[in-house]
Amino acid sequence: MVVTIIGAGYVGLTQATILANAGFKVYALEVDQNRVDIIKSGRSFFYEANLDPLVKNAVESGLLIPTTSYEEALHEADIIFSCVGTPDNPDGSSNLTYVFDVVNKLISTIGDSQKILVQKSTVPVGTGEKIIKQLSDSGSNVSYISNPEFLREGSALIDSLWFDRIVVGGNDKSANQVIVDLYKQVTAQRINVAARAGVSIQGRDSKEGEYITTSVNSAELIKVTANAFLATKITFANSIAKLADAAHADINEVMSAVGADPRIGRSFLNAGRGFGGGCFPKDVSGLISSGIEYGVEIDILHAVTQENNSMPGYIIEKAADAADGATLAGKKVTVLGLSYKAGTSDIRRSPSVAIANLLVERAGAIVRVHDTIAMQDPKSVEVLVDDITVIDDLNEAINDAEVVFVATDWPEFTSLSATYYANLMSGKLFVDCMNSFSPDAIRAAGLTYVGVGR
Ligand code: NAD
Repeated sequence: MVVTIIGAGYVGLTQATILANAGFKVYALEVDQNRVDIIKSGRSFFYEANLDPLVKNAVESGLLIPTTSYEEALHEADIIFSCVGTPDNPDGSSNLTYVFDVVNKLISTIGDSQKILVQKSTVPVGTGEKIIKQLSDSGSNVSYISNPEFLREGSALIDSLWFDRIVVGGNDKSANQVIVDLYKQVTAQRINVAARAGVSIQGRDSKEGEYITTSVNSAELIKVTANAFLATKITFANSIAKLADAAHADINEVMSAVGADPRIGRSFLNAGRGFGGGCFPKDVSGLISSGIEYGVEIDILHAVTQENNSMPGYIIEKAADAADGATLAGKKVTVLGLSYKAGTSDIRRSPSVAIANLLVERAGAIVRVHDTIAMQDPKSVEVLVDDITVIDDLNEAINDAEVVFVATDWPEFTSLSATYYANLMSGKLFVDCMNSFSPDAIRAAGLTYVGVGR
């Protein structure tokens, strides 16, 4: 079985690397020559813990073949995974340019040879039907499957090797089975792959995840619904956090007790500066657009977007209220963390970037930022407004700050003690944007604590 992955980004490179380490011959077809060159050198172009040893092994063993050539990548492929980006258009709908580029290239490259095209990219419901029609009109011999990806950046390997569920949406039962079998073969190798990566598998059981076969439309809708629901859960916690602030309750106490109800669950109820990244914001807006396309208004998701967008500004206002003279204007503020969450270099739609920029533009603060991993990506600096100073060294970034915002919960920041911060800072205001610290410990070190809903 030869596999081709089209689009070697966060999802595609992870998938390609795992498959090659499980013994498959894999072509990683990527249009960005720079990314191909980096992968050929045996590493990833983004940060994901433990991925590099697997990329190196896959490339050195010859099983992972990075290329920019469709002809090279497709001629012997049995299964083709499409993992290209599906960013949003300015109106919030999904931009499917790359998805249909792949379909067009496929049709013009493979003739009538038999292949399975597996869509891993997140696409709006109804996309697969259009692709199936296009494939059939062209006379190609391709079975189409929607197999949405659920990995999370920061835990991509574990999520892929110890998945909860694999959704396989397709009309061709034998093609569906080929894909299920492929995952089963990876699962059979997962302990070896994890060991090679150096990933701890302590506490992981031998249980296999669930295989769920559905129609193409259902598979497409499952993916965006899952993300929109998680985004809604986070946003619900943030809305209640605002009430907790006003009413002097503690959102962590509230959500721990609320989440103890198994019907609700504790996960994704942490209040903070909101969600970001390359998936949740666009999947929420994409679902709104799908609703409009089919004549269904999903009002709740408009509220989610609006509430989520308000969080960086809300935290800054709360901090300003607690600052000397009730203003951050002219104050030396350090923002720790730029990535949208810990464990990734991804700064797409990062609320931490929004906080840094708003501190300059709206609050008039003098801002310095630090994020060891995200700053390795030159784009992380490009998204910052002028006048923000990027500091390479963590201690130097905290030193002499009148205010510190811990905007991304990297362990590098959350593991530092309150006294460590207090000793380096020249001021006293400590803003815990993701509720990662104990307010009592921060106050005991002589600092003023500002959290979200606490
Ligand atoms: P990405 O931008 O990191 O990667 C996409 C890659 O595809 C890029 O490297 C790009 O150069 C390449 N590409 C674009 N057009 C191409 C073409 N015609 N031929 C070959 N390569 C091409 O995106 P990503 O984060 O990996 O996401 C990919 C898809 O998976 C999206 O639909 C996303 O919503 C979904 N997804 C992402 C995650 C995540 O955590 N990143 C999780 C689940 C699902």
